[in-house]
Amino acid sequence: MDRCPLQTPLFTFGVIADIQYADIDDGYNYTRTRRRYYRSSLQLLKNAQKSWSESAVKPRFILQLGDIIDGFNKMHDASEQALDTVLRELSSSPVKVHHVWGNHEFYNFSRSALLRSRLNSRLDGSPSGAPERADIYAYQFSPFPGFTFVLLDAYDVSLLGREESSEEYRNAMAVIKLHNNNEDLNCPPESEHRFTMFNGGFSKDQLDWLDSVLSSADEKQERVTVISHLPVHPESTDSVCLAWNFNELLAVLRSHSSVVCYMAGHAHDGDYCRDKDTGVHHLTLDGVIETPPDSDAFATVSVYADRMVLEGFGRVTDRLLMFS
Ligand code: ZN
Repeated sequence: MDRCPLQTPLFTFGVIADIQYADIDDGYNYTRTRRRYYRSSLQLLKNAQKSWSESAVKPRFILQLGDIIDGFNKMHDASEQALDTVLRELSSSPVKVHHVWGNHEFYNFSRSALLRSRLNSRLDGSPSGAPERADIYAYQFSPFPGFTFVLLDAYDVSLLGREESSEEYRNAMAVIKLHNNNEDLNCPPESEHRFTMFNGGFSKDQLDWLDSVLSSADEKQERVTVISHLPVHPESTDSVCLAWNFNELLAVLRSHSSVVCYMAGHAHDGDYCRDKDTGVHHLTLDGVIETPPDSDAFATVSVYADRMVLEGFGRVTDRLLMFS
């Protein structure tokens, strides 16, 4: 044979973001520029599940990048019911789902409730490490030898999910008040747009833990993909969607040769950049919630020794992510 056979990937995984399901009529985003398809988002999740279950190489796991149900559920006292509905759909296949937490998780549930909930995929997974502080929802897992995934908590420092009487809440309030003088803290300030209540950041404890995980991965020459709800590269999203201390997280990522990719959701519009200093791929996934019912928003990623190949469905763009 003079032709190379098609290479089989080492493993594949599915990724989906911002489902924001609610059993309510369509609505609009805050600026009323984009339609939100609250009910249809469940059908788009079904489409993703069907594609993954019928694929030739079954995904080893699914990454759910946060905002799985919409904050409106809280107003309708339907948080548990909506969560049941989406999790029932996700459990229709036996593939492990890794859940990231976004702002809408905290609109529906307190941090302590989430830690005990089915959205804590650290509980039923096989994480190979987590921060010492039990209130930080972060962990690492290795789905295949030589590959590590690190799930980060982008609302570790935030007004969301923390008790108003807590030291963490007071610290987060001090951070946001330094930049945002608006009466409504969901309204972005004129500069440093990201300092809003629907965003958050990473504590020093979490950054130190990530740094140690990545040092160990560097030594073992592993390939690391980091996932969270909030984007951290200014060229990979709108400035209003960035994590509060994105620059501190970027500095940690840039100081480790093992990092190959960072994935986030939250922005609803897909975006991408390759970090000029390190060649790390920063991917922001299109959100299901603002995707019309006749389209789709999910991806299947095939991992090879030297690259990841992202196959996008619907409005998600295909991408070849070469490792540096
Ligand atoms: Zn979000």
